[in-house]
Amino acid sequence: MILVFLGAPGSGKGTVSALLQDRKSFIHISSGVAFRDIAKSKDKKKDIKKLQKILNSGKLVDDDTVFKVIKAKLNEFDIIKDNIILDGFPRTMEQVKMFSYFVKENSLDDIYFINFKTTSEIIKKRISGRISCPKCGRVYNVKTLPPKKEGICDLDGTKLIRRPEDENDKVEIRLQEYYNKTAPLLDFYDNLLVNIDASKNSEEMYKELIKKIGI
Ligand code: AMP
Repeated sequence: MILVFLGAPGSGKGTVSALLQDRKSFIHISSGVAFRDIAKSKDKKKDIKKLQKILNSGKLVDDDTVFKVIKAKLNEFDIIKDNIILDGFPRTMEQVKMFSYFVKENSLDDIYFINFKTTSEIIKKRISGRISCPKCGRVYNVKTLPPKKEGICDLDGTKLIRRPEDENDKVEIRLQEYYNKTAPLLDFYDNLLVNIDASKNSEEMYKELIKKIGI
């Protein structure tokens, strides 16, 4: 089964992914985590520098690079047998074309498109409290979803950070990118969408999702 998580940054895709990973053994493929991993490289190559700049700006990475990275990630798993979450891909209509081709090529049919629906106000409030693990990518919230030990990742003990792209000015840019480039995907997948009320907390979103897709 493949779950394609659609929704603005901060809509809860990452936290619900973590619950599905912990409780239902889903494999979480996050394009954002994949890019941040590449950008962490100490390599001084031009490509890495360019990627770091794009990530820090809040803008989207170009479609060809995205598809190369996601395809390599998908190849690490058995896409027919494994339960996979695609968190943050596809994010543009061009990526939809690439993904549709990939689906056809691999005769995949057990796919759900999950739309995490909420308002910009809730998103901004959520991101303002967000802290993340720079090692594994797990997301916490100082107010609503704190780690067991303050400032430390529950999974690997790494010191949690506030990501540069979670600062207010960057959040505005990321939301604009979402409304201009990703929101049109909702019309495209309209009759396939499973809508989740993303103004709720992560536990409630998780329950709504597993009920709606019957797992
Ligand atoms: P995220 O953690 O999903 O918000 O992603 C962080 C950043 O990675 C985004 O602001 C983009 O710069 C880049 N990114 C992640 N996924 C994609 C994608 N599918 N297309 C283009 N850029 C992406």
